[in-house]
Formats: sequence, C-alpha cells, structure tokens
Amino acid sequence: MKKLALPAVLLLTPLLASCGTGPAPDEAATAGPPPGVSGEVHWSYEGAEGPAEWGQLSADFEACSAGDAQSPIDLPAHADQQAAGHPTITSSPTVGESVDTGHTIQLVPASGASTVEWDGAEFTLAQTHFHVPSEHTVEGEAMDAEFHLVHTTADGETLVIGVLAEEGAENEAWQPFVEGAATPGTTDLPLDVAVMLPADPTFEAYEGSLTTPPCTEGVQWVVYTTPVELSAEQIAVLDEASHGHNARPTLPQGDRTPYEGTLALGE
Ligand SMILES: [Zn+2]
Repeated sequence: MKKLALPAVLLLTPLLASCGTGPAPDEAATAGPPPGVSGEVHWSYEGAEGPAEWGQLSADFEACSAGDAQSPIDLPAHADQQAAGHPTITSSPTVGESVDTGHTIQLVPASGASTVEWDGAEFTLAQTHFHVPSEHTVEGEAMDAEFHLVHTTADGETLVIGVLAEEGAENEAWQPFVEGAATPGTTDLPLDVAVMLPADPTFEAYEGSLTTPPCTEGVQWVVYTTPVELSAEQIAVLDEASHGHNARPTLPQGDRTPYEGTLALGE
C-alpha cells in the first residue's frame, strides 16, 4: 500500500481489479469461467495467494498442485526428437479489443485471426495475452516477456503458441497489442498474426497446462524459441500492465520430452 490515509474506496479499487473477476478468464479461451470453476476465487503471483498456494485456494484449482503435466517448463534450445507431420498456421488479419482480466491484458479478435492445423485438428485463435517476464525459460534463461496465442477447437481442445520477447529494436507488428495493453477497452486494434511471429519458425512443443488457475492439463504447447524483439519502451508498457509481474515459475518436466519442429505460415 502506498498511502494508508487514502479513502477506503480508493484502497479497494486495486484489490477488486486484481481479483480475476473481470470479463474474461486469463488463460482459458471461453467467455466466462467454466461451470464449477469459480471466477471469484482470488489468486495472485505472490504471497499467500501466489503460485505455490494456488492448488489450496479452491478445489477447482487442484491441478495446480496435484497435476504432473503442468506449465510452464524449462525448454531445451534444441530437442533431439522431431515433431511428426507438418503443422501449419494461417493468418487472417482482423481487429480486436483489449481486455483487462485483472492479471493480464488480452487482445480478443473480432473473428478468427489465425488457424493452426495440428495433428489433424483445426485450432482457431480465441485471444492473445502476455506475461512479464517470460513463463517458459530456454536453457534456464527467462526472457523479458512472453505472448500466448490461445487457440481452441470447436470441442474445446486448447493449443497455445508461445512467442518469447527480448529487448531490442521497436517492433511495429506488436505495437497495436502494446497500445491495447496501455489502454484496456480499446477496440478496433489491428491484429495480423502473420507479422507478429518470429522470423525463425522453429518451436519446442510438449503437452502441459494452463499457466493460470485452474491449471487445466491437456494443453498443447508450441513455443517459438527464437524471441521477437521489442523496444525498452514497449517492454516498459507491458511491465506496467502486468499487474506487478504475472509469470508462473517453471514446473518439473516429469516424464515429458519436448520435441522440435517448425510452424510456418501456410496458404
Ligand atoms: Zn498465458
């Protein structure tokens, strides 16, 4: 707390804003909490409601502590095992609205901005959001930020593309997202996934979970290991919008073996 002398209503505002009761869940793609999952359970990234305690905060969050295939994890720079098949991603430029969930800012597309063909299934972009610093690490190293492009199938399967970001040159492609993060509620933000992906299409993939409660498993992760660059100013905007840092620490890999492939733009 900055000033204890503030009127109670002002003191309450940041607490309410961080309760996760916003208009959209954080990591999941549906328009509201799934049945039986309470959107009212308060959780955060530190202290008594931090990541180590999520599993105890609600019976619905049990997977956060009891699960054995959780995300994020530390990724190898290069896995020996190769992905089977040839997944593709197609992009349809659209516009989106920025939404503050209380834990991150999402950019929600007006229509399917990208489609991933993966293992015979078709996943469509539901929303993209960010974490500061990155959640996945590569060879033990965290990066400055990580974007998650949450894709889902009609039957509720989830595939998340991770785009890591490091400080460097200003990134025009991600600037609309950055502007949306600075001013939640902005509509008609350009969203063109084709130009937002890293130039190097190499990914490390594995099966994990949502990185926010309820930490649901069965999520296909596809993380590009070459980061995009964002300027220091762009990263500062995300940092400011991250509700005081919003990265879950890495979890044990267990018996999962990440594998490598490329996910490049198709026709
Ligand atoms: Zn995420």
